[in-house]
Amino acid sequence: MCGDGMKPVEILFYNTASREKEVFAPIDPANVRMYACGPTVYDFAHIGNGRTAVTFDLVFRLLRHHFGDDHVTYVRNFTDVEDKIIARAKERNLPIAEVTEPVAKVYQEDMYALGNIAPTVEPRATAHIGDMVAMIEQLIVKGHAYEAEEHVLFSVQTMDDYGDLSRRSVDEMLAGARVDVAPYKKDPMDFVLWKPSTDDQPGWDSPWGRGRPGWHIECSAMSAHHLGITFDIHGGGIDLAFPHHENEIAQSKCAHDGAEMARIWMHGGYLQVDGQKMSKSLGNFLTVHDLIQKWPGEALRLHLLMTHYRQPLNWTEAGVREAKTVLDRWYRLLGDRQDVGGAAGPRVPEAFVAAFSDDLNTPQALAVMHELAHQASKGDGAAAAQLEAAGRLLGLFAMTPAEWARWQPSGAEIDETAVEALIEARANARSQKNFKEADRIRDELKSMGVAIEDGPDGTTWRTDT
Ligand code: AMP
Ligand code: ZN
Repeated sequence: MCGDGMKPVEILFYNTASREKEVFAPIDPANVRMYACGPTVYDFAHIGNGRTAVTFDLVFRLLRHHFGDDHVTYVRNFTDVEDKIIARAKERNLPIAEVTEPVAKVYQEDMYALGNIAPTVEPRATAHIGDMVAMIEQLIVKGHAYEAEEHVLFSVQTMDDYGDLSRRSVDEMLAGARVDVAPYKKDPMDFVLWKPSTDDQPGWDSPWGRGRPGWHIECSAMSAHHLGITFDIHGGGIDLAFPHHENEIAQSKCAHDGAEMARIWMHGGYLQVDGQKMSKSLGNFLTVHDLIQKWPGEALRLHLLMTHYRQPLNWTEAGVREAKTVLDRWYRLLGDRQDVGGAAGPRVPEAFVAAFSDDLNTPQALAVMHELAHQASKGDGAAAAQLEAAGRLLGLFAMTPAEWARWQPSGAEIDETAVEALIEARANARSQKNFKEADRIRDELKSMGVAIEDGPDGTTWRTDT
């Protein structure tokens, strides 16, 4: 929301389609609509997948802040039929749903642990096969697709502006798409809309025989179903710009007589390890599921937010530790603050909103938070309240300061009763001026992973990481 009587803060988003930062003007401010390509659910998400999900959660949060919580629709799909899934199900001798459903559930839990709000709709591809078949039929009727050897292919040559999003030459596109030069294709660039399934593969009846959809048509069909023909924002990781998004545009535009699919295309940069993209195929990945056993989700999130979403981000344990230390400090400042925000809650400072609204400039927004923390550390309660409001907008500070202070990695559970007993024994030793014993108890607590602090209201403790 804008400041009283002040010019409202504008949202700027970098649009991959125009290669420019653009002022965001929604098609319908009462229902701002965004779609982000979600996971293929055959295995747990890694923190690179998590980064992209956090990026679009930030877009969602920013839009909710500007337009109101009930005026933004966010769709993120589950790709729950795909060749990697089929292979995994075959290995385990299970129906695909018994692979995809547990993985999708863990994905939702992992994304929650990273501080993401659940999208408005999380459609599954397998629940929209009818929409996909209908869209493919439209493409055939309109002369943009053809049937060949039980496959249906999109005919790239029938579209003048194919390749506009990624602005690649045909040679680059051919190399980038690593397309099969199948004999039944009219052009090597043509891509699959529908393919046949063997009896042991999952399949659905269609006008072209029993089969299953290609990956690209899934998103075109699901986005049109839930968001309409033209919506505001479409996003994903930068690896999806070509061929996936290029092909989504081709299908949607041609099925809808040239109508634009999305106004703004946003792409997140790679999360890397030692300069290489984190990916399942390279084997250099860390799953969110494992990381959240070791670190609070907010520390992982803050590590992600420290780099602008379009830049490559090098994932390191030192980076997570740094983020954890920052949060330790911030949470302590929130715990110390005397004034609790009024019923309406404290306002998020303008400088913070301006940075966040400038194409999600989280490094700048965090700099504003560091400044607020500095003021708060000097006893400025209003600054502490603003720090809290700003952090909440970024998806931080979901815990109370006490919960944060006592967070423990899994498997390292500290016996709280024993800690309280030792703190009491130390207080007794101190009251008897037995400082040697008091120090011994402090060391014993430290060896248990507990740090104590003596304050005016007695001794408090927190986990010492
Ligand atoms: P996938 O499950 O591979 O289809 O990927 C799901 C989402 O994660 C897509 O939006 C990808 O672009 C994104 N993604 C995959 N790997 C990375 C990475 N290393 N860094 C950032 N995003 C990624
Ligand atoms: Zn997609």
